[in-house]
Amino acid sequence: MATKLYLAEGNARAKATLDLTLQALDGHLRRFETLPDLLADHDDVRAALTTPVDLAARARLNQWLAQKSAQLDSLDIYVMTPDGMTVAASNHERTDSFLGQNFSYRPYFQAALGGEKGRFYAIGTTSGVRGYYFASPVRTAAGAVLGVIAVKIGLDVIEAEWRSQDARIIVTDPEGIVFLSSDPAWLYKGLRPLTPDRLERSQQSRRYADVRLVELPNNRSDAWGVNSITLADGAGELREYVIVGRLLPRADWTVQVLLDSHALHVQARLALATGMLFLGAVAALGLAFLQRRARLAERFALQESAKAELERRVDERTADLARVNHLIEAEVAERRLTEAELRRTQSDLVQAGKLAALGQMSAALSHEINQPLAAARNYADSAAILIDRGEGARAKDNIGHIMSLIDRMAAIARHLRQVARKPDAPLKDLVLADEVAEALALVGPRLAGIAVTQAVPSDLPLVRGGPVRMQQVLVNLLSNAADAVAEVNGAAITLAATVSGGKVQLTVRDNGPGVSAAIADRIFDPFFTTKQVGSGLGLGLSISYNIMKDFGGDPRVATAADSGAVFTMELMIAIQQAEAAE
Ligand code: ADP
Repeated sequence: MATKLYLAEGNARAKATLDLTLQALDGHLRRFETLPDLLADHDDVRAALTTPVDLAARARLNQWLAQKSAQLDSLDIYVMTPDGMTVAASNHERTDSFLGQNFSYRPYFQAALGGEKGRFYAIGTTSGVRGYYFASPVRTAAGAVLGVIAVKIGLDVIEAEWRSQDARIIVTDPEGIVFLSSDPAWLYKGLRPLTPDRLERSQQSRRYADVRLVELPNNRSDAWGVNSITLADGAGELREYVIVGRLLPRADWTVQVLLDSHALHVQARLALATGMLFLGAVAALGLAFLQRRARLAERFALQESAKAELERRVDERTADLARVNHLIEAEVAERRLTEAELRRTQSDLVQAGKLAALGQMSAALSHEINQPLAAARNYADSAAILIDRGEGARAKDNIGHIMSLIDRMAAIARHLRQVARKPDAPLKDLVLADEVAEALALVGPRLAGIAVTQAVPSDLPLVRGGPVRMQQVLVNLLSNAADAVAEVNGAAITLAATVSGGKVQLTVRDNGPGVSAAIADRIFDPFFTTKQVGSGLGLGLSISYNIMKDFGGDPRVATAADSGAVFTMELMIAIQQAEAAE
């Protein structure tokens, strides 16, 4: 395909070269075309052909012709008589001068003699120089032909110009013989078979003088509408050429332009290769561009997906955060609710605790009060009956019972008052041993059958406290201990006091069941009791606790290793000497 294109291109190029060549040749010939007519009209020319012969005129004509030939750049200008004899010539001085030569055989002469313009291309039979001959008749004033004047021009300059071109240019005569050629090897060779007719015609005109004409073997072909010819070049090498030709009517020549097909093939291949390379480069560029675009698209897609992923993650994270926030908010709200509930529960509990305490208190009090009240009522009823019966002594006993019951209730009332005690009662320095002895004496009857050990040294430092409240605490502790060991065989209570840590530690120990951990931290609460209704109000330890706090001490309870309870009271040591009793 590329070959076809390049052959066609070569064909077009050859045609263009052909046009230029034809124009150049035509122009060149036209320059001289009218010359013989002009020269023929010269008197000296006519004179040279008239009789009798004017030698002086001939001599002048020779000079003039030489001068004109030099001016016009022609090869030769010469005048011939009607029989073909040259009578005047520009080259009259040369040894190979045309003077005396007969050119009657030349077609240009014959044409001119016939009254026409003669033209001919030939090798000079005298000079051996190729040239183009223009000839015109020389006429008398009346128009009769006196002779012929011819101008021979050279074409070597044009031919030389052709050699500088890459195209080969040949000009063939009507017989197909090459007479102008950019390649000298083809000169005077026949492109058509040199038939006897042709040879004969050439021979007659002596166009090629003595040059031996040979055939130039050639092979013509036609491919893709392009004419080709294969010829041997100067080196004898066969080459194929694209060939175009046209007739130059002015000279009856066929000008032909040949372009080396091989060079065209090479060019085609080169162009193809270049085209391929170009296409390859374009393809590579296109590929690179596509790849780049693909990469860019890929990168863009990646970026997009990364962005989308990022956005998704951000959205997810935001959603997570929103969820977490929501959860936190919900939790906070729940906490608040729980807190509020707790507070409510707490206050409910406090309320419940108060109510429980109140319940306990009412139960205790109602029993403590109702029981003696009921008993007192019975005693009073009986007393009334006894009085009615006149049994005054027995009624008096009843009244005595009623009074002791009233005393008991008064004692309860005192107890209650103590719960609502005055905490800021002044403290004194006390001798602890004295207070212990006093308390033992008070509790005395209840300690029957119990081994009581008193280990409170009399030389202990004085302690701060109120004597009545101190005894009240001691009575409470001793009473509780007595209650604890009531069912114990070998019941024992020990009272002891030591100085430790700048304070006096008073302990009341018993060998009862002890205080279980479950109730240890509740036994100091008011109205807490494990005893039967009517047996205890649960106020003893509570009152004692508050009293000890007033004294600056800290009551504690512990269960001894060998079972039983140990109550420890801390007492501050007095700064001044102890005073006597309260
Ligand atoms: P009450 O003696 O009226 O019950 P307390 O306040 O004096 O009130 O005592 C409260 C509770 O402490 C008692 O009910 C008892 O359970 C417990 N308690 C007190 N002292 C002892 C002790 N020495 N051994 C065992 N338990 C004791």
